[in-house]
Amino acid sequence: MSSPYVTWPTAATAHSRKSIDVVVRIDFVLENELKGPPPDFRRVALPGTVKKVEAKWSGKKFKCYDFNVTIDYRIVPDRKALRPDALDVSLREDLPGYATTVAKGPDGKALSDDPGDALVPGRSGTFSESVWELGSDTMSHELGHVLGLDDGYTGSGTSTTPLPGHPLDVMASPKNAVLPETVTRAVRRNYGPSFEKAMKCPLGVRFGPSKFELVLASLDDIRLDARAPRYDPPTADPDAQPEPAEFSGTFHVAGEYLTKFPELPWAASGQADRPVKFKLDLSQEPIDLRIDLGFWLLTQKLHWDPESSLPYAEGPLVINVKDAQMDSSVMFPGPPLTPEFYDPDKDGGPVA
Ligand SMILES: [Zn+2]
Repeated sequence: MSSPYVTWPTAATAHSRKSIDVVVRIDFVLENELKGPPPDFRRVALPGTVKKVEAKWSGKKFKCYDFNVTIDYRIVPDRKALRPDALDVSLREDLPGYATTVAKGPDGKALSDDPGDALVPGRSGTFSESVWELGSDTMSHELGHVLGLDDGYTGSGTSTTPLPGHPLDVMASPKNAVLPETVTRAVRRNYGPSFEKAMKCPLGVRFGPSKFELVLASLDDIRLDARAPRYDPPTADPDAQPEPAEFSGTFHVAGEYLTKFPELPWAASGQADRPVKFKLDLSQEPIDLRIDLGFWLLTQKLHWDPESSLPYAEGPLVINVKDAQMDSSVMFPGPPLTPEFYDPDKDGGPVA
């Protein structure tokens, strides 16, 4: 169940724009406002804080869709003035680092991507009220609760520890970033599995063109371009681990005196395109990239980039031939074979 105080775009709108633009409505209750001049500190500080919180939660990705959060807020003098569809939050500056958000949800489900485990924020009652302070990190953490996420830590005060298996994100500690796993959890808790079935997000990987010259022989125009028609996003939910992405594409090479490379199965000169197929198990950290060309096995470790939410390689590919290994960064004149992941719909076409 999603919150009445948060508007997620309909699935159709999100699919047509390839963007998930979330609007959170909050009425900040400013009790005992100091009437200036100068104006009450909370009134002065709030706009800048809100901008920082929006920035921390925006410019993210859910697979190939953009993910952004806007806070539609007002300052109200008391709870009688609340908009019917806005969450009420008391704005305090006398309790630095302290904040709480009224919300309901099942216990022990902090890692879950399941919509049934979403936290649902509520209005303040007789015995509970949402109270936030003016720090943007604390506010970013509380916004996570409003978006349906649980705490990712145990303990209290200054002695908290991240939950086992929880990503080190804003829900584990307010200073931390909003990570790809954080966005996955929020999006999946809102839309459920049917949403992703309708997403079309291919994933591409490429390297080259590159050159490799040896005495009396050269490999020119070494290139690879391969695509997976779909992939699953990173998640911390043990029950929702990603399926391997299945890539297929082409490895291209041209050259002279190719017989100087005895492992290559081609004629002495010319060029060749070889079909390439490989799977990427995205559930690991780091992710093991293994591109088996038959004569060369190309390997490297990958991680998820929190900004682009695409995998990136720790370094250039390692070329494995029989019992030998060679880092492609020593290839002369190069450049090294550095795999680059990309969104083929935005950045299409093989490397020129
Ligand atoms: Zn919390």
